[in-house]
Amino acid sequence: MAAELFFQTIAELGALLDSRKLSSAELTRAVIARTKAVDGRVHAFNSFDEAGALASAAASDARRAAGQARGPLDGIPVGLKDVIAAAGQPLTASSKILANYVSPYDATVTARLKGAGAVVWGRLNCDEFAMGSSTENSAFGPASNPWDLARVPGGSSGGSAAAVAGGELIAALGSDTGGSIRQPAALCGVVGLKPTYGLVSRYGLVAFASSLDQIGPLARTVEDAALVLGAIAGHDPLDSTSFQADIPDYHAGLKQKKGPWRIGIPKEYFGTGLDPAVGAAVEAAIAFYRSQGCEIKEVSLPHTQYCLDTYYIIATAEASSNLARFDGIRYGHRASGAKDVVDLYFQSRAEGFGPEVKRRIILGTYVLSSGYYDAYYLRAQKVRTLIRQDFLSAYREVDALLTPTSPTPAFKLGEKFDPLALYLCDIYTIGVNLAGLPALSLPCGFTPAGLPIGLQLIGQPFRESELLAMAHTYEQAHDWHRRHPAL
Ligand code: GLN
Repeated sequence: MAAELFFQTIAELGALLDSRKLSSAELTRAVIARTKAVDGRVHAFNSFDEAGALASAAASDARRAAGQARGPLDGIPVGLKDVIAAAGQPLTASSKILANYVSPYDATVTARLKGAGAVVWGRLNCDEFAMGSSTENSAFGPASNPWDLARVPGGSSGGSAAAVAGGELIAALGSDTGGSIRQPAALCGVVGLKPTYGLVSRYGLVAFASSLDQIGPLARTVEDAALVLGAIAGHDPLDSTSFQADIPDYHAGLKQKKGPWRIGIPKEYFGTGLDPAVGAAVEAAIAFYRSQGCEIKEVSLPHTQYCLDTYYIIATAEASSNLARFDGIRYGHRASGAKDVVDLYFQSRAEGFGPEVKRRIILGTYVLSSGYYDAYYLRAQKVRTLIRQDFLSAYREVDALLTPTSPTPAFKLGEKFDPLALYLCDIYTIGVNLAGLPALSLPCGFTPAGLPIGLQLIGQPFRESELLAMAHTYEQAHDWHRRHPAL
């Protein structure tokens, strides 16, 4: 029996739309009804614009009625993490400081999705300013994991992952600075892709750490992730770090690129702290690739132990600078009753930012301050180069790396109250951002308690086609992605 409409893939729904068995209006209404039925429990959405969604669905149907050919995303409901701008829509970054802010313009990715005919539906919950690994730092309350509502969906793109897993959306965009697309994808049992730094424009993304941030898709299948990536990737003159090159056809690449690949297993990624069920599922995935004729080789990334420290210096330094603009004057919340302008800054920021964001601003200001800059920030930049070199030298021997995405499956809401415990969630994902590489998480099993497990594949710069093909090969032989939570 076919899954309910809201659990189908972009590719499946596309076939129904093309054959006129389904209209975008029907599909969009099904997704809206599903969201209304379950989001009170999941809290994946910060806000949505039902009338706007129905209008773009109707426009999509009208294009078809007029005989226009349909692109792969035309008529498909997709959502945006609430750090990605959409004209006329709230843009809160899940922060009180932006609670009443409405974006005057579209991010480049939003404009490209709209240009592809997608029904851009809803603003998705996340950790405040994308800082966190559980969505518990959202000023509007945490999101829940659709597989177990007492557990976190991961973060910071937890709402994006939970919405796709729970049938509230067909696909979504998230952002990944240290793991925020891949880790929630793993914890919610969906596919999440963090592109190579520079492949996807950051114009219109609320900046957290500009040298690490990338926008990418969360979807039900690797094929769907390839379709969304194809729509959003490519040069943008509005982002000075945007890469100038032709974008390959990622969807066609799924079938064209065939292994066997040489796959590296970084030994530093299988140490203490790895949950046994996660370890076993990842070992089974390694055995699968071996059975396909891939060469499996142990490799070493010797500077892995410095990744977290390096990240929390660079990311907080950049955040302290990026978040200086939220001063109560130009954007968002303004404190009342301030004595003078300095007091206005102090009060607006004290009232508007949550505790984790304040912690990061304080840390970042510290590592950038004179006297500490050389000892922390400059040194972290040097270590970052060593971390990147680790990956590049591994790629002299292998085509890609395979690791767990997260050391554990989804944990309970409220379980990790110590910030350091939360920072450790990203030990397998952060190196990728520091090195600027593409990486993808895809479902590779379930724990005995029924929680999803994610497998991470890490590719070479701008070789997303290869990475997607490798993941597709695994997905074709497994059916984890066909399971859905009972909500
Ligand atoms: N969990 C990491 C952090 O809190 C990564 C967040 C992200 O990728 N946006 O910074």
